[in-house]
Amino acid sequence: MSKKDLNWSNLGFQYRKTDARYVSHFKDGAWDKGTLTADATVKLNECAGILQYCQQVFEGLKAYTWADGSVVCFRPDLNAERIYNSAKRIEMPPFPKEQFLDAVDQVVKANIDWVPPYGSGASLYLRPYEFAISPVIGVKPAEEYEFRLFCTPVGPYYKGGATPIALQVSDFDRAAPHGTGAVKAGLNYAMSMHASVLAHAAGFAENLYLDPATRTYVEETGGSNVLFVDQEGRLVVPKSDSILPSITRRSFVYIAEHLLHMTVDERQVAFEEVKGFKECGLCGTAAVLSPVGRIVDHDEVIDFPSGMEHAGPVMAKLYETITGIQGGTIEAPEGWIHHVC
Ligand SMILES: *Cc1c(COP(=O)(O)O)cnc(C)c1O
Repeated sequence: MSKKDLNWSNLGFQYRKTDARYVSHFKDGAWDKGTLTADATVKLNECAGILQYCQQVFEGLKAYTWADGSVVCFRPDLNAERIYNSAKRIEMPPFPKEQFLDAVDQVVKANIDWVPPYGSGASLYLRPYEFAISPVIGVKPAEEYEFRLFCTPVGPYYKGGATPIALQVSDFDRAAPHGTGAVKAGLNYAMSMHASVLAHAAGFAENLYLDPATRTYVEETGGSNVLFVDQEGRLVVPKSDSILPSITRRSFVYIAEHLLHMTVDERQVAFEEVKGFKECGLCGTAAVLSPVGRIVDHDEVIDFPSGMEHAGPVMAKLYETITGIQGGTIEAPEGWIHHVC
C-alpha cells in the first residue's frame, strides 16, 4: 500500500471518488450488517422517498494523520448521536450508534491511502448519510432506507486559510420556528441555496440568518454556527432551538472554558448587540473556524476591530487550540480523539 499521488497541500474542498464506501440497508424493520463496496453509484426507483419527499439526513466529520503516522477522528460519537436524532425527527429509522462508529473505522481503514499525510494541512472528510429508497407516492415515511458513508480527501475549506470573511444579513430565513433548523438534513440546505447564490453574487462569503420569528436574534449561517467576543473578552455564543448543534461550536465552548479559562456566555444574542462586539467567527467541521471581519445588514455596516486582514486574538487562539487537538500536538480532553489505526 502507498499513498495516492495527490498534491496534498493543494486539494481544495471537493469530491474525489475514493476506493471504498460503506452501505447498509434498512428493510423489514431492521438494518443489515453493512458492507464496503467499490461502487460509488446509487441506483434508485423513480419514486424513491428521497426523490419525492426528501427524507435525508447527513453528517460530516474528518480523519487526521498524526506525526506518528496514526489516524484519528475527532469526536465521531457526537456525529453518531446527532444523525440518530436527526433521523428520528424526520421519521426515518435511526442508524445504530455502534454501527456508525464501526462504519467510520471500516471506511477510513479501507481508504488509508487517501488519508492526507501529517503536516499537509489536509484531512479525510467523511460523509455519512441516510435516505429513503422505497417508493412513496402518498405522503408518508418510506419503508426502506439506505445508510452510506463515503470519504474524500480535502484541503482547507476557504482557500487562503484564516483570512477574515464578510457576511450579509439575509432577507430569507434558514429555519422555521419549531421547524427543522436543529436537524442536519439536506432539506435545510436546499432552501438556503437561493439566498447563498445571492450572497455570493453580492460579494459575501455567507448569509447570516436571524431568528425567523422576530428577526431580532442572531441564529447562524447556512452551514456554520457563529461565535462572538464581547468587550469584556467573554466568548458569546448564540442560543436558539433552531440553530444546528455544531460539534465544533460545542468543542470551542469547552476549550474556552476549560483550557483557555475564559467566561462563556451562551444566550440569545440580539443582532443590535453585534456592533459592540470585538470579534466574530464561524465554526463547523468543514472550515473549522473562519474569522469574520465585517457584517452588512442593508445599509448598516459592522466592521469588527479585528479587521479584514487577520483573525482577532481570541479566534486565533481558539483555532490554534482545536487544530492542535485534532492534529495531536495539544492534549485532548477525555474522549475527544478516536484512534482508528
Ligand atoms: C453541520 C452544520 C454546522 C456545523 O456543525 P459541526 O458539527 O461543527 O460540523 C453548522 N450549521 C449547520 C446548519 C450545519 O448543517
